[in-house]
Amino acid sequence: MDFDSVNKFISTHYRLLRKFSDKEILEINEEISQKIFIEEKEKNDVLCRVCKYNISSLDEMIEVNGSHQHTFKNPVGIVYRIRCFSSASGCMLIGAPTTANTWFPGFSWNFALCSQCFSHLGWFYQSAQMTFFGLILENIIENPSTH
Ligand SMILES: [Zn+2]
Repeated sequence: MDFDSVNKFISTHYRLLRKFSDKEILEINEEISQKIFIEEKEKNDVLCRVCKYNISSLDEMIEVNGSHQHTFKNPVGIVYRIRCFSSASGCMLIGAPTTANTWFPGFSWNFALCSQCFSHLGWFYQSAQMTFFGLILENIIENPSTH
């Protein structure tokens, strides 16, 4: 049941029945909208595919070089599809930043691992202007409610 139909239900039935005061109805509405807000927020979670740890959020998704998704091949021929995020609080960084074979000219990178199970989730990129995470689509779960 979405917010509008819940709201309508409360307004039409309970208000008529005088089961709740107007103040109580406002409080109930507030409670419901908070719950819906949290559910909507959780829908945007990005999780580690291995251990389901909370890595980032689709709200953190950003465009880099005109796209939030990129496909690259590394020097040994492995193809990676990555999504760009402005932050990924569930990641830990490993190794010294390097510009060797970087996929984003002007950016150095180091490895980004799941800070709970240490799975390789992608890379952390930084330039003088900005930083972002490139997370490997195959190694994360987006929209956990649909999985
Ligand atoms: Zn993990």
